[in-house]
Amino acid sequence: MEALTERYGLTCYGTRLGDYRVLLVPDTDAENPRNWDNFGTLWFRPTEYNHNRYQNYGDEGLGDIDSAWLYFTDESPAMQVFGSVRLAHVAFARWLRMVKGATHIKSVSVYEHSGITIRYQKAEFVERPVDWGHGSFDGLIFDTEEGRQDIADPPEAKVREWLTGELETTKAWMEGEVYFVITEIHNETCDDGSDCFDPDCDAWSEVESMGNYYGEKYAEGDAYQQLATLFLTGN
Ligand SMILES: [Zn+2]
Repeated sequence: MEALTERYGLTCYGTRLGDYRVLLVPDTDAENPRNWDNFGTLWFRPTEYNHNRYQNYGDEGLGDIDSAWLYFTDESPAMQVFGSVRLAHVAFARWLRMVKGATHIKSVSVYEHSGITIRYQKAEFVERPVDWGHGSFDGLIFDTEEGRQDIADPPEAKVREWLTGELETTKAWMEGEVYFVITEIHNETCDDGSDCFDPDCDAWSEVESMGNYYGEKYAEGDAYQQLATLFLTGN
């Protein structure tokens, strides 16, 4: 796809086929996917140094997890018992497993890259707190007993897939990669007809608009399909 036109001051990528075209229009008002009824829990740790700046990106109502974190880590006298950050993390992970029923725990980091985004290891789920990176993570995503209750015994591979999918969706939202896929037709009112290559020609009118594509690859995949269908069948 190529940069075709602008909407609301934002570049829209798209492609043309005959008298039809498809545009990916950024949805600047997309809902934070963490407000949905998710399978996993995305938690960002409360710390003094970041003034809880990332907590807004995680799920709401995780005060009990915040409390457990503060209890187990170096911001609490309990740290004197554990003696090291690593052991405190081990104890916290055990708490997540026992109390929340977590079976998969994955660390997440937030960083600035023309806006804010998150980073995580794609392929592997980190099972051992020692691999969380010695404290250099901002949050965790994990499954819970509660999240699994509607799904009878989901296979381990599915649990990993769902958690990774949720991170991809959240990442897309944070990076502003949520789109409408809009198909348009170039009407006969334009004198240049099929020879018109003005992307801002008045003769373009909308055929269909579909929203809620979190992630460019989903939007693009569907966009090509819709364009092909429109081109072949005319509706
Ligand atoms: Zn035209």
